[in-house]
Amino acid sequence: MKIAEILKRMFLERHCLICQEALPYDGSPPFCPDCVEYYQELMEIKCRNCGRKQSMCICLPSKINKISHSVASWSVFYDTDVSIQLSSLFSRLKHKYNREIIDFCTDKMVSSFRAICRARNINYKKFVVTYVTRRRDSVLKYGFDQSEKLAKSFAKKLGLQVIKVFENRGNEEQKSLNKKQRAENAAKSYVYIDGSLGEHKNVVLIDDIMTSGATLYACAFQLYKNGALNVIPVTFAKDNYKSKGVKGNVKRNSKYNFTGAVKGFVRNGSQR
Ligand SMILES: [Zn+2]
Ligand SMILES: [Zn+2]
Repeated sequence: MKIAEILKRMFLERHCLICQEALPYDGSPPFCPDCVEYYQELMEIKCRNCGRKQSMCICLPSKINKISHSVASWSVFYDTDVSIQLSSLFSRLKHKYNREIIDFCTDKMVSSFRAICRARNINYKKFVVTYVTRRRDSVLKYGFDQSEKLAKSFAKKLGLQVIKVFENRGNEEQKSLNKKQRAENAAKSYVYIDGSLGEHKNVVLIDDIMTSGATLYACAFQLYKNGALNVIPVTFAKDNYKSKGVKGNVKRNSKYNFTGAVKGFVRNGSQR
């Protein structure tokens, strides 16, 4: 074994993206075998609203559907009660920049997006990519904007252009608000940067996670107001609620466990 190789193995320890268990330094996937199995189980969960597999589900909260005839796509459903391990992945996605995590998420987003475009005869090459800009204080605190990173990686994989369309002037965490407050907060937080959309009519709107949909609604609303004709929200994860009446999201959010995965603690990809 070459010295460089030995040093790499000593210092560049790889960790499973879900449970953080140490992995061998080789070309294996960035998950331990248990988590690969867990992720595959998650992918089998069906949408509670339309019954489709998540990669083909285009359900949006009714409020967004009212302003949009567009489709949507996401890569994984989560359900706060059964997804402690996913919460740990989300936590690292938001709090610590890791290229492997971004890359993993956008691989999933791209394949879901492609499948939906194919099924609905959408030419995605006509689209430009933008994102839900992170709050400035969070960017300062964590050092990066995870939606911007996702958007850039997503766009690169599809050969699309990325433009920044929103300034985030918010100062409150959506997570801590109820449904009505979320809508109000989102509406005043995202400010369209004059002229930024240019002549673009077709926009992919990237965010990491959709919970109540208030943020995506606020941003999609601004995009339509400023000339967009089609907006496709694409997120890595979506809360698998029944889309008629977003029940109890905020209450369930408070149970959100961001403290990291306890390996084997919850292993249940089925619907309740
Ligand atoms: Zn693992
Ligand atoms: Zn659905």
